[in-house]
Amino acid sequence: MQARIAIVGGGVAGLSTAWALRTAGAREVIVLERERAPGLVSSRLNAAILRTLTPDAAVSAFARESAALLRPYVEPCGLLLASEGAEAAELERQSRECADAGDLERVSASRASELAPHFAAPSGTRLWFAREGRLDNTALLAELARSADVRCSVDVVNASASSTGFDLELRNGERLRCERLVLAAGAWTNPLARALGSRIALAPSRRHLCVTRGARGVPANAPVVWTGSDPFYARRAGDGLLVSPCDEEPADPSAHGARPELRAELARKAAKHLPGVELGAPVHYWSGLRTFTSDGESFCIGPDPDVRGLFWVAGLAGHGMTCSLAVGRLAAALLESRADGVFAPGGAFARAFDPARLVATR
Ligand SMILES: Cc1cc2nc3c(=O)[nH]c(=O)nc-3n(C[C@H](O)[C@H](O)[C@H](O)COP(=O)(O)OP(=O)(O)OC[C@H]3O[C@@H](n4cnc5c(N)ncnc54)[C@H](O)[C@@H]3O)c2cc1C
Repeated sequence: MQARIAIVGGGVAGLSTAWALRTAGAREVIVLERERAPGLVSSRLNAAILRTLTPDAAVSAFARESAALLRPYVEPCGLLLASEGAEAAELERQSRECADAGDLERVSASRASELAPHFAAPSGTRLWFAREGRLDNTALLAELARSADVRCSVDVVNASASSTGFDLELRNGERLRCERLVLAAGAWTNPLARALGSRIALAPSRRHLCVTRGARGVPANAPVVWTGSDPFYARRAGDGLLVSPCDEEPADPSAHGARPELRAELARKAAKHLPGVELGAPVHYWSGLRTFTSDGESFCIGPDPDVRGLFWVAGLAGHGMTCSLAVGRLAAALLESRADGVFAPGGAFARAFDPARLVATR
C-alpha cells in the first residue's frame, strides 16, 4: 500500500481532516482505522453536546467557528450552565474571555427555572446558550466518512521515518509507505509518536456516562444542563436522560473500563441536581477516554517540531465533537500550506494549537 498522506485513526479527528483535504481537492489521502468501522470509539461514546464555552479562550473561539459549520447536525434545545462559589468565578472568567460570543445570555434564577424546571441551578452565575444543545454524531460521522477513503480493520502497530517519508507496519503483516503521516489516533497516539522519535506525549483521562430508560419529571424539550459545582451534566436521550458525574481520572488506554463504584456517585449527584426527577433504570453505563495536551484543554494540531513530515491532530480533550469541522479545516490548511480564512497557516488558531509549544514548555 502507498499514499501521499496517511492518517492513523478514523475517529472524528482523522475523518474531519480527510474530509477537509478532500474538499480542498487533495488526492491520495487514506485513513487507517483498526476497528471494523470508523468512529466507534471516543467519537461515538461521548455525550454529543455542542458547547462552545470552554476553559481555554482559543478553544472557545475555535468552537464557535465549528458550531457555525455544524448547524445541520445540531438540535438546538439550549444549554444552561450554572455554578456557584469558585466555579462561578471560573465561569465568569470564561465568559469575559468570550465577550464576542453573541449567543451568551445571563439569566435570573426564575428564568433558569422556567428554562429547566427539573434542574436545581446553583445560585451564582447562570449562562444560557439558546442555539447550543445536542449533536447528531451518527449523521456527522457518516457524512465525514462518506467523503474519505477509509480502510477499516487496519491496525498500525509500528512506524519508522526516513528522509523520503514513513514506513508503517500493519498487524496483518503488510506495510504502507507514505510521504506525510497524520497522528489522529486519540488516546492511542503516544506509542506511535514515541516510535517515531517525537517528544510530545498526550494524557488520556477516563470519564463516565450513563443513559437511563425514562426520566419522569424532565420536560420533553429540556435543555442540556451543566454545573461545575459538584460537577454534573444531563441531557435528554430518547425518553430517558444521559447523565455524567464529570469525573476525571488518568487512564491507561490499553486497559480501561467503566468502574461500577461510580454509579453511586452518579445517583447522588443526579438526586442533588435534579431533585424532583425519577430516573429510570440505566440501559447503558460506560466510560470513555478524553485526551489532553500537557498544557490543559488546548489542542495539538500541526507539524511535529522534531520529526519532518509528521503531523498531529489530537489532544481534543472534551471538545472534539463541537470543534470537529474546524479541526478538519485547520489541519487541512496546515497540511497543504493553504490560506483558508481564520484557519490559515500563521493565523491565531494555528499558533494557539501548534504542537511545538508542548516541547518548548517542558
Ligand atoms: C465521556 C466523554 C464525553 C464527551 N462528550 C463530548 C461532548 O459532549 N461534546 C464534545 O464536543 N466532545 C465530547 N467528548 C470529546 C470527544 O469525544 C473527543 O474529543 C473526540 O471524540 C476525539 O476524537 P479522536 O478522533 O481524536 O479520537 P477517537 O474517536 O478515539 O478516534 C481515534 C481512532 O483511532 C483509532 N486508532 C487508534 N490507534 C490506532 C492504530 N494504531 N491503528 C489504526 N487505528 C488506530 C481508534 O480505533 C479510534 O477509532 C467527550 C469524550 C468523552 C470520553
